[in-house]
Amino acid sequence: MTTASTNDHRSHNFSAGPAILPVEVLRTAREELLDYRGTGSSIMEVSHRGKEYMEVDAQARQRLVELLGLGDDFEVMFLQGGASTQFMMVPMNFLTEGRTADYLNTGSWAKKAIKEAKMIGDVHEAFSSEDGNYNRVPRDEEIKLSDDPVYLHFTSNNTIFGTQQPAEPESAGAPLVCDASSDFLSRPIDVKRYGVIYAGAQKNAGPSGVTIVIVRKDLLARARTDGLPSMVRYQTHAGTMFNTPPTFSVYLANLVFGWLQDQGGLEAIRRRNEEKAKLLYDELDRDEFYRSPVETESRSLMNVVFRLPGEELEAEFLKEAEKREMYGLKGHRSVGGLRASIYNACPRESVEALAEFMKKFRQRRG
Ligand SMILES: *Cc1c(COP(=O)(O)O)cnc(C)c1O
Repeated sequence: MTTASTNDHRSHNFSAGPAILPVEVLRTAREELLDYRGTGSSIMEVSHRGKEYMEVDAQARQRLVELLGLGDDFEVMFLQGGASTQFMMVPMNFLTEGRTADYLNTGSWAKKAIKEAKMIGDVHEAFSSEDGNYNRVPRDEEIKLSDDPVYLHFTSNNTIFGTQQPAEPESAGAPLVCDASSDFLSRPIDVKRYGVIYAGAQKNAGPSGVTIVIVRKDLLARARTDGLPSMVRYQTHAGTMFNTPPTFSVYLANLVFGWLQDQGGLEAIRRRNEEKAKLLYDELDRDEFYRSPVETESRSLMNVVFRLPGEELEAEFLKEAEKREMYGLKGHRSVGGLRASIYNACPRESVEALAEFMKKFRQRRG
């Protein structure tokens, strides 16, 4: 990584997505922007089948393999269309006639995934926390699977509601399909339990424009091919670049993967994420002034959602936070209140500054 100037002006960015990127990554991209490694072109301006980009693509895959501990039984794809496109691609490829797919309804994104799947085939909701405005994720014993689900789809982190699966949900042997958009690469996972992992890059893994899709090869081999247009078939994309990938997004994501390795990998980043989240949750738990709408065991390490006593105080909090260059703290409109998104790239100093501000604000207004 570059050691270029360290006095760039950076605010405290708590945006939910697109979200903060590691400053080291942005500096490298800046240095390489006009003249990528002596080529006299930016990486954006060259063929996706040329040597330079092919190296970026291969390195990004290799780094994902190393970070996640993927065996060669997994296929990595860099697709477009966001996680929202995966909501349809997953069932189109795997939810065949006569089968049922199980879904955990733990938030707005999960609900959207369910809606899309229902257009394709039979869906069984194995758990829902919609009645409680999605304030928690299930305990294993609450998951009511169908007879022989083709997969169990879950959202590892519910970005809007601030809940997160503490671990992979019980699926009785069915392959897990995971929308990991907002906690991808934030902690180690039990890879062998997954059939599909997909994530829009723009929360935790890079800029918008690329969706990382990881599919187990034995499932891939059984994926539906008949009657599906090429672009929505996973087999079309496996092992090849079928069409032009979002090259600059992949380039930046690759730099983020390298940065993660420099940080010590997923176990190290998990520890840091836990420490950062604790700073904020400790503030919430200090007394009744701040309140978390989320059940304690379901709390997210990525999106810390909280309320103050009254919307006027919340508006005031936001305004004062912005004066201190703390941005992106407004909660999603379906939850209200505040949300601090503290993804991998959000520095501990920013979280400390927010915790300190929360303390001061309570002292003045509590
Ligand atoms: C942001 C988000 C999405 C939507 O991603 P797009 O890339 O905009 O389609 C889906 N799922 C989760 C969990 C998200 O956080």
